Amino acid sequence: MARSFVAEARRRVGPKKARVGPVIERLRVEYAGAGIALSFRSDIELLVSVMLSAQTTDVNVNRVTATLFQKYRRPEDYVAVPPEELERDIYATGFFRQKAKAIRGTMRMLIEEYDGQVPRRLEELVRLPGVARKTANVVASELGEPQGIVVDTHVRRLSQRLGFTRQEDPVKIERDLQRLVPRADWGIFPHLLIWHGRRVCIARAPRCEDCVLIDLCPSSRV
Ligand code: SF4
Repeated sequence: MARSFVAEARRRVGPKKARVGPVIERLRVEYAGAGIALSFRSDIELLVSVMLSAQTTDVNVNRVTATLFQKYRRPEDYVAVPPEELERDIYATGFFRQKAKAIRGTMRMLIEEYDGQVPRRLEELVRLPGVARKTANVVASELGEPQGIVVDTHVRRLSQRLGFTRQEDPVKIERDLQRLVPRADWGIFPHLLIWHGRRVCIARAPRCEDCVLIDLCPSSRV
């Protein structure tokens, strides 16, 4: 019964290949300002901010980096202080020991192998200590060279609800999305879903009655 309901819903909205374009266009109109919420002024600050944002909010990260980036400007600054000092300076972002270790290791590698610059290729970014695929994807995308699609909790939930994937694993979801979303939109696509996921397609109670995607969504409750 449930299965036929899902099949019926999918039939009603049509194939995902035909829907993805209009979904992106409508969300673009809705969230013209969609983008990263972290504050940074350089590639290094971007990388550090994204590393600090694991398991905490962007608002919290921005609060910490407002003073952190006054003190630490170059990769050398992060390795010049004792580990405990950096831990104290990023304490409020949580998991501060792990994060400090990852940041110091990353800065060391940037100095030794990349002339103190943030590399742009995904395969180089994921080599940096403590930089997982999601972090690398966010950084590459913000540097203007998206090479994948960021899959966070919102992107996962909305992609599933919109019928763009049936997968649970972020890597498999990303693969499905890469096949579906035009390459030129790989950077903006996650921002649009994240903004929509925070405002309308909320995890526990999606506000379908206020959703601009209602006729394009097989999970619509209206
Ligand atoms: S119609 Fe409902 S479930 Fe579908 S995207 Fe909109 S809010 Fe989410």
